[in-house]
Amino acid sequence: MIIVLKADTEADSPEVRRLIEMAEGYPDVRTQLHRIQGATRSVTEIYLLGHTGVIPTEPFEEFAIVEKVVRITEKFRSIGRHGGGLDAVGFEYNGVRISQDTFHVFPGLCAVDGQKNVESMFKALQEHGIETSRAGAYKPRTSPYDFQGLEAECLPYVFELAGKYGIKIISMEVTHESHVEQIQKALADSGNATGVMIQIGTRNAQNFELLKAVGAQTELPVLFKRGMGITLEESLNACEYVASGGNRKIVFCLRGMKTNLGDPHRNFVDFGHVATVKRLTRLPVCIDPSHSVGSRAVAPDGLLDVFHVTAQGVVSGANLVLVDFHPHPEEALCDGPQALLMDELPRFLEDTRIVREAYQERLRRVAAPPAAS
Ligand code: PEP
Ligand code: MN
Repeated sequence: MIIVLKADTEADSPEVRRLIEMAEGYPDVRTQLHRIQGATRSVTEIYLLGHTGVIPTEPFEEFAIVEKVVRITEKFRSIGRHGGGLDAVGFEYNGVRISQDTFHVFPGLCAVDGQKNVESMFKALQEHGIETSRAGAYKPRTSPYDFQGLEAECLPYVFELAGKYGIKIISMEVTHESHVEQIQKALADSGNATGVMIQIGTRNAQNFELLKAVGAQTELPVLFKRGMGITLEESLNACEYVASGGNRKIVFCLRGMKTNLGDPHRNFVDFGHVATVKRLTRLPVCIDPSHSVGSRAVAPDGLLDVFHVTAQGVVSGANLVLVDFHPHPEEALCDGPQALLMDELPRFLEDTRIVREAYQERLRRVAAPPAAS
């Protein structure tokens, strides 16, 4: 059961304490308090966990501070919409608001391979007004002989350069819980020059111990990538592990499905699921066109496949785009062939803007259909 409080209710007020005491007065019931600070208002929710099926909703509804009480269904307890009873409130991190209504592009290096390329990347982003990027320091590779990332060694300069060029969030994959601690320490050492969104890669989508570890910390948001060879429901259940640990700053990322039915793309593009994930969950949805397409193939109309599939995700409401760029793809130590070039950045950003506007126009027409002639 979830008790949604009226906007701007103080989480530590006596009334909230009385509500929590009442909830915990029922046998085998514990509570989790979640406060979501939005741009204009804050939303507080109290999650009742445990044996809640027999608890009536009415005593809670009588509190003046309660907006509504939502009974949760078994599926996707923490991330689910529960029949539309819950708003997708999203979260704010390091001054950036991320929700099912916002839109951000995260262009960046698949893998950090040296200071020079990180600097060229962040500098170009600043020139185009972008404050969000990606940079891999820990790379899960198919072969143990392939480059595994520069790991903790690169973090000091990555964070310092991010601060220098106004990058507020870097999406960075971790493959072990110790990496989260290394990132937190390096961020603190940099004077919190930037922020990090912890990325769970598709290969770790069902690494439940890792998911519990990233869910147990509530400081850094988590970008959860869909498992490449499991159903959407299995991926959403795995994502629940992060949320059930207490971390509600989660983004769900579509990155294509592993099957040769998607050939010649690296993965079968699954951006048709953008709207589905938004309907089933309260999570903002990211698309990763680079790892879906996996090449720089160009369509006969002159647009790269990466541009086309990005447009497909964005026109149906994707909230984030994680996309590989590299100043010198021929030097890249990971995924160079799928990287976009720096001189393609302005066109890519313009293309996403055009398509995002088309999505917003579609929304306006749903809200107020044009009068019939
Ligand atoms: C990545 O984003 O660098 C990556 C490895 O992606 P995925 O986990 O989707 O393969
Ligand atoms: Mn990659």
